[in-house]
Amino acid sequence: MKLIVSEVFYSIQGEGPNIGKPAVFLRLSGCNLRCGWCDTKHAITITNTITSTSNCNSISYGCAQVLKNIKKYPCRHLVITGGEPTLQQDALIPLLEKLKDYYIEIETNGTIRLKINKYLEQINCSPKLASSGNTPYPLKIKPTNNKVVYKFVVADKKDLKEIKAYIKSNKIPDEKVWLMPEGVNKKIVQEISEWIIEICKKEGYNFSPRLHILLNFQ
Ligand code: SF4
Repeated sequence: MKLIVSEVFYSIQGEGPNIGKPAVFLRLSGCNLRCGWCDTKHAITITNTITSTSNCNSISYGCAQVLKNIKKYPCRHLVITGGEPTLQQDALIPLLEKLKDYYIEIETNGTIRLKINKYLEQINCSPKLASSGNTPYPLKIKPTNNKVVYKFVVADKKDLKEIKAYIKSNKIPDEKVWLMPEGVNKKIVQEISEWIIEICKKEGYNFSPRLHILLNFQ
């Protein structure tokens, strides 16, 4: 079974609990949601278009090819992202079997149950709220999983009411919550960050900047 890959690259984790750590990113193509502010639109549909940052020369890869692309970097930290990477869990398993010496985290929107939990050290789940433009959906990765943290993208002060209600109804502990500013440019991210930090201090949530936007890197 082949993996549909958008890109493999080496960078710094730009958000969440592992922010600042060097990591290899495996970005898989295809997503089951359509967020209005999606900053990875090149990875939400499966096409034959290769992005300029891609290190791969084909969009559909066997396990050995993806492994080679990952292992060429001097780093044992892998971030599996997308798109929505849980759409390709069956194809991921043979690859993960060969990466048992890696620290592996996954970015997911929480719409799909995990079959690959045992291979992961951390699950970064980002439930999408009304401001994303998606229809609300049930959370499939529950806070009882001790590997999961929840990252909420905040675009507007109105989002906070919805986030608090979501956290309460899904019984998510405050210490598992990360708030991140929405925005695809530095100025907007900085403006939103200023008031989000105050909310985090008040409510006991964690704040995550978006380093890749603030520093203009991938
Ligand atoms: S879930 Fe993520 S990848 Fe999918 S559309 Fe939303 S922001 Fe983009």
